[in-house]
Amino acid sequence: MIKSKQIQRPQLVLVVDDQEINRDVLGAILEDDYEVIYACDGKEALDIMREKAEKLSIVLLDLMMPVMNGFEVLETVQSDDLLKRIPIIVLTAEKNAELQALQMGAADFITKPFDMHEVILARVGRIIELSEGRQLISAAEYDRLTMLYNRNFFFEYADRIYRYHPELKMDAIILNIEQFHLINDVNGRDFGDEILKTIGMEIRSFLSETEGIASRFDADIFYIYCVKQDDYQKLLERFQNCVNNLSENVSIHLRMGVKPWREDVEPVTMFDRARTACNMVRGNYQNPLMIYNDSMRTKEIFNQRLLNDLNAAVEEKQLMVYYQPKYNIQCDPPKLSSAEALIRWKHPELGMISPGDFIPLFEGNGLINVVDNYVWKEAARQVGEWKNKYGFHLPVSVNLSRADIFDPQLIEKLVNLIKNNDLKYKDLKLEVTESAYTDNAKKLLELISNLRTLGFEVEMDDFGSGYSSLNMLSEMPIDVLKMDMKFVRNIEENETDFLLVKLILDIAKYLNLHVVAEGVEKEGQLNLLKDAGCDLVQGFYFSKPLPPEEFEKLIEKEISIERNEN
Ligand code: C2E
Ligand code: MG
Ligand code: MG
Repeated sequence: MIKSKQIQRPQLVLVVDDQEINRDVLGAILEDDYEVIYACDGKEALDIMREKAEKLSIVLLDLMMPVMNGFEVLETVQSDDLLKRIPIIVLTAEKNAELQALQMGAADFITKPFDMHEVILARVGRIIELSEGRQLISAAEYDRLTMLYNRNFFFEYADRIYRYHPELKMDAIILNIEQFHLINDVNGRDFGDEILKTIGMEIRSFLSETEGIASRFDADIFYIYCVKQDDYQKLLERFQNCVNNLSENVSIHLRMGVKPWREDVEPVTMFDRARTACNMVRGNYQNPLMIYNDSMRTKEIFNQRLLNDLNAAVEEKQLMVYYQPKYNIQCDPPKLSSAEALIRWKHPELGMISPGDFIPLFEGNGLINVVDNYVWKEAARQVGEWKNKYGFHLPVSVNLSRADIFDPQLIEKLVNLIKNNDLKYKDLKLEVTESAYTDNAKKLLELISNLRTLGFEVEMDDFGSGYSSLNMLSEMPIDVLKMDMKFVRNIEENETDFLLVKLILDIAKYLNLHVVAEGVEKEGQLNLLKDAGCDLVQGFYFSKPLPPEEFEKLIEKEISIERNEN
């Protein structure tokens, strides 16, 4: 095996002595292991040091020399940042001079007349090693762009502060730049670097006034561990102000998450919580500051519990699918026309958990596929069962999440459900929330077109809750529009709301789309919708989502109405 030392160039040593005999002796000792160069006085030594500052590993410096002596060299080196990093061993015959030289920054001394060769070699070797180690450490400690600690050293030091200075009440503060990757993409990395440097400088200036440490933890994420602050808003403004004037064309927005000091919390946990807070104000340009509080903690513990328990929930059938009917209100009496499958979680200890509590959580970490696949499978099975049991055709719609869109097996899975349960494509409708259309427009449109070509019907869920505009509708490959509840809520009291509903209905008619009005609770709402030409209604007025055995009563009622009519 080749040792790395053998393939490296030998380290460079400068020997400075006015006496030729001394230069020769030291040269003879060192030349086997090092590349040695020489200077005859202090002035010449400084010239060489400046020229070869990056390459020099060590200087052996005689103290008594003409022109410029060793002490003057030491003094000059101490005040020069570039030269200061080169270790110097002084060569001297005087005890007093040794001490003075060490005080002036020399790393070690070698006494004249020269010692045993091995001792000299060992001293030179050790000092080089020490100094290289130190330089390595300080290079690794800091982020070069901002001169703040990098993440490992940051936590090392934060832990020390926490352990050894319990009297200090430290806050954990996280600063993040909104859409930094976009700023980088559009304006170039140099501009991005300038933002980071500017923030780094402001943080260092802040830390020169306040006790604490800071790190550029990740690309555009800054961690600050500092003594308790009174006014976080003001602190955020301070950092925001420092980037406001960087460019006339680019607006840079910072957000801040804070976990204020609490006696019993270690830095890692403090910063986890500050991060939770910081994530909560992502994209919130009006209110970019969030301070961690106890309710977030309760929520986090609850979420963690749900994440841990999901597998058991699937295995032990704690997840249940409820069905909420959709009625055609243009018939008299209104006719049961389909249902929506809605998940419920009956947790053995936490009780009934509503989807609003866990769907967004699982959407955030990819586990939603587990939930949705479960619901689709169960809904398809149920449709098949009702078909056989009652001979009644009741299509059921299931919800698709944003993450499902990226499942490469999505189409295959859905097609298999249709085949395995002996259904028609129209028996399983797919609800896709409006915001998914705006998020992943291209990918989604392609997927939905493929599904519709197969024969699936697609409903746009929560229409009006997001940003899609009415004129986008004409380009959307959908069959049904589900009008968001907020439109229906006030149609009795608020004329504008009702006009809006009528407008949506008119446009939908023009585009040949059916409309489902969601959240209909009152008869008055129902009548207005009916007059305005809305055909389908889902809401508590007819029924809450029901477990299958209760939903069957609605089917049975419907069948008996049909029989009476015939
Ligand atoms: P969504 O798909 O818009 O479902 C309609 C929600 O409105 C249901 O809430 C339903 O119970 C509620 N609702 C129906 N009628 C009324 C009414 O008259 N008044 C009021 N106030 N509410 C009414 P739920 O079951 O809590 O579901 C909430 C959301 O969770 C759903 O909104 C859907 O986005 C999501 N979700 C439910 N089940 C699933 C699922 O299996 N997979 C996925 N990905 N999401 C699901
Ligand atoms: Mg839905
Ligand atoms: Mg909906």
